[in-house]
Parts: sequence; C-alpha cells; structure tokens
Amino acid sequence: MATNRTFTMIKPDAVANGHIGAILNDIIADGFRIVAMKYIQLTKKTAGDFYAVHKERPFYGELVNFMTSGPIVAAILEKDNAVEDFRKLIGATNPAEAAEGTIRNKYAKSIDANAVHGSDSNENAEIESNFFFSQFERF
Ligand code: UDP
Repeated sequence: MATNRTFTMIKPDAVANGHIGAILNDIIADGFRIVAMKYIQLTKKTAGDFYAVHKERPFYGELVNFMTSGPIVAAILEKDNAVEDFRKLIGATNPAEAAEGTIRNKYAKSIDANAVHGSDSNENAEIESNFFFSQFERF
C-alpha cells in the first residue's frame, strides 16, 4: 500500500455520543480522501488481536472491553503525508493534552475513551488497513 495512506477508527465513545458526522467532516475538511470505510462492532478476539502490541500494558483489558462496548467506524484515509498529518489532526492520546481544535480536544473525554485511532507509522497503517479491509473494499 502507498505510504500516503493511514488507518483510523472512530471509537465507541464518539459513535455513542453522536460525533460520527462531525469527525468525518473534520477529516474531509483537512484534505483526506476516504479510500475504504465500514461500520462494525469488534469482538473480544478482533479487538484483542488489533491491540496485541499493548498486551503487556496495564490498560490492555480495559482497552479491549471499551473497544468492544459498541460499534465503531473503521476507515482508510489518503492524503500526502497521511500518517503524520492525521496524528496532528487527532491530537495527543490524552485529550487533556490535545491541542485546541484537534479531534480528541473537541470530541474525547478521557485517555481511554479518546474518540479516534490513528496509525502511528506507515508500516502500522498498512498492517491495520489489511486487518480490516480486503483489496475489493478499497476505492
Ligand atoms: N490507552 C489507555 N490508557 C493509557 C494509554 C492508552 O486506555 O494510559 C488507550 C487509548 O485508547 C489509546 C490506545 O490505548 O488510544 C493506544 O495507546 P497509544 O499509546 O498507542 O496511543 P495512540 O497511538 O492511540 O495515541
């Protein structure tokens, strides 16, 4: 996959709080093109596998519980410098530290329920996109 793509999820808190439309609007307004998108609920297995890299961290169990607590929107996004620009658009992991105007600053309430996911490298963007989408689901 090209390195001008990233992977995102709108997490269960943002979906439950009615922010899907506003977040997609911010993403598109920032110049990202939607390559793929789906509305799904993760199982313990899929959420556990997706976050396997955090398995040893103290928040892993809570993270898996939270990510399976309701539906999410998963998407692949395209823009020059996508991974870095998207991390800038969403802001710091802890919304209390997220810059003014970022998605987490506007729509997240806590470090665990922080509204959105954004890949942290080109390599992970590709792995995460392949985890959710087949080649026939990308446009
Ligand atoms: N997380 C958490 N507690 C923490 C740190 C992280 O619940 O102390 C959750 C949070 O949902 C975060 C995810 O674990 O988005 C992955 O953590 P990471 O450090 O990779 O942050 P991100 O890349 O999402 O900003």
